[in-house]
Amino acid sequence: MRPVVKSVRTAGDGTPLEFKPHGDAKPDLCDEIGTFCSFCGKYNTRASLHIEHIHGKETMDATGNLKYPHLLYRWDNFLLCCNNCNGVKGTKDVQVLQPYLPHENNLLHFIDTLQGGYIQIRPGVTGIELQRTQAFVDLVGLDRIPGHPNYSLKDDRWENRMKADDIARRQLLKYTQPVPATDIETIVDLAGTTGFLNVWYHVFSAFDEVKEALICGFINSNGLYVHPFPGTHGDSFDRTNGFSTTARPK
Ligand SMILES: [Zn+2]
Repeated sequence: MRPVVKSVRTAGDGTPLEFKPHGDAKPDLCDEIGTFCSFCGKYNTRASLHIEHIHGKETMDATGNLKYPHLLYRWDNFLLCCNNCNGVKGTKDVQVLQPYLPHENNLLHFIDTLQGGYIQIRPGVTGIELQRTQAFVDLVGLDRIPGHPNYSLKDDRWENRMKADDIARRQLLKYTQPVPATDIETIVDLAGTTGFLNVWYHVFSAFDEVKEALICGFINSNGLYVHPFPGTHGDSFDRTNGFSTTARPK
């Protein structure tokens, strides 16, 4: 759900770079955008992540033929996806549905993450922005929680979001004690372990220095620059205004 940015890659002849088989792109994708689902934001092991074809590899056109065979191996058609998001997205056609997408839009500008790990389209989002945000939620079923008609017991996204929210809120309590019982390094290390930048961003919304470390990375106690969420599109946030979200114009 966080805004991600990937490198633009071309082959030696200037054509878009391809990986055959497409699974060969996984190490590079994980290095660039981290081992998180690009849609829900959950941390996954490299082994459990799927390579997500933005324009689906099995999506059909009206005549029953594959609609995007030319994009099957293309680097610019790849994101990373957890099992749940991958399964719900299936063969849906983003060209038809027109959802906001994490490599093009800043969904944090349109979706709030509430206490308990619940998500909510931000009040005040209307018109085409509302349509496209809702299309994203529907694309992967991001609002599926127990009680939702399509919720499955195999769907652990909300449960993991809730756990991340609990860990983040306990870190917030420690961080705001008169003598803090945690520090940015610990917070960022934990965030990178749970995933869900959206959860940590909202819990630490009043603390610009934490948001900066989450979005831009930071220098750790070993003097190394580390980034808990590599590939986050920093320009989707206004650093002159408390790292508030922006809509990320194309
Ligand atoms: Zn996911």
